[in-house]
Amino acid sequence: MAVVYLSLGSNSGDKVGFIQQAVKLLQNCDEFTVVRTSTLYETEPWGKKDQEWFVNAVIEAKTKFSAVELLHHCQRVEQSLGRVREGVPRWGQRTIDIDILFYGHEVINLPELTIPHKYMHERAFVLVPLLELIPLFKHPVLNKSISEMHEELEHPEDVFLYGTISV
Ligand code: ADP
Ligand code: MG
Repeated sequence: MAVVYLSLGSNSGDKVGFIQQAVKLLQNCDEFTVVRTSTLYETEPWGKKDQEWFVNAVIEAKTKFSAVELLHHCQRVEQSLGRVREGVPRWGQRTIDIDILFYGHEVINLPELTIPHKYMHERAFVLVPLLELIPLFKHPVLNKSISEMHEELEHPEDVFLYGTISV
């Protein structure tokens, strides 16, 4: 069993509904159990600014999946919630985006999978919800806690409390 942290985000349609459905679909199997969820946040787009605001949350889960199996599990859930990749620019509009932030304390560098997630330490929309769950957890590569990475954000995008997840 590994303890993992996933970031969920949506900026199209029923954003909160997509996040709640994603949580349900992710744990609709024996290999994955949600342990805790952060609250929901309304967040300013990161990277590509000219698009709708996002709703974001982070979840803590236990899984029997390997890291690559977990990536494929997340991609299946994205697909079943109507995520379209073709013709959509990088960091562009999406019904649901599910990223793996941490897989235990493992460091993974594969062509299709980087763990810890490559940009997590630059994203207020990831660090603020993670602060609720694991403020003292240390990033295994940067060797900094979530609180430290959050304090060091130079130009954090806006992140507002939005509500709680109910599944
Ligand atoms: P983004 O999340 O950057 O907005 P996508 O969701 O389209 O973009 O992901 C692009 C690719 O990132 C995926 O095809 C996946 O293989 C790769 N990837 C690398 N590391 C991770 C990770 N930790 N979690 C999720 N996807 C990842
Ligand atoms: Mg993604």
